Amino acid sequence: MIYFIGAGPGAPDLITVRGAELLHRAGMIVYTGSLVNPALLDGAPEGCEVHDSASMTLDEVMGCLLDGHRRGLVTVRLHTGDPSLYGAIREQMDKLRAAGVPFEVVPGVSSFCAAAAAIQAEYTLPGVSQTLIISRMEGRTSVPERESLRSLAAHRASMVLFLSAGMLEGLCAELTAGGYPPETPAALVYRASWPDERVLRGTLADLPALAREAGVTRTALVLAGDFLGNEYELSKLYDAGFSHGYRKGREGAE
Ligand code: SAH
Repeated sequence: MIYFIGAGPGAPDLITVRGAELLHRAGMIVYTGSLVNPALLDGAPEGCEVHDSASMTLDEVMGCLLDGHRRGLVTVRLHTGDPSLYGAIREQMDKLRAAGVPFEVVPGVSSFCAAAAAIQAEYTLPGVSQTLIISRMEGRTSVPERESLRSLAAHRASMVLFLSAGMLEGLCAELTAGGYPPETPAALVYRASWPDERVLRGTLADLPALAREAGVTRTALVLAGDFLGNEYELSKLYDAGFSHGYRKGREGAE
């Protein structure tokens, strides 16, 4: 069996219990060395074969995984964060399906969750935004024109941008052109949950300069939106006057 496992954002204890148990039983691990914390490999048993996929092609990765499977090893493909986001797992899963090889996916804590934890924020604030947009600046991977950051920014929803820390000027310009005022709060979270985690807070107007001064160009997420501000409405869920399936509200309570 082949397991695609989300390693979590970096801290070795932020992998799921299920993921950690599979690592303990692994006979082969193929991990994305560019982002996965190598400390996670300490959980592998003696004799486990470990391959870093950073310098491999898709065919080489598949060759490794299929070889592990054919030798009857518990074969783990370890991806950073949650594999469903910018993980390039679809192409691997399709090749396994075509080869008739069974596999499972074990989710992980995505870096966008670790970033919110790092800055102690909530993306979905009543009265501010009930929507989180996850996207990226176009790089070598194209972004469909209908999803341009400019058009997404028109919603003024909470936003998290992956893979874009090296293009902050263009990114903030796009968000501003799309509808966010330049004074919209923004943050750059570098290596969330790693020992050298850093948080830069500013606005869409000054975040690029803050990042330049700090020298942060990669392994960081850009967070933008009024959820980083001070104003919001209290939730209905805990409102004393509000009844729901689990609690009856007091008449006239505030
Ligand atoms: N599947 C991963 C994302 C892989 S794409 C996930 O769910 O998090 C790689 C990008 O993710 C990086 O360029 C960076 O933007 C972001 N990233 C990954 N780990 C991060 C971390 N610990 N802190 C901040 N950003 C991170």
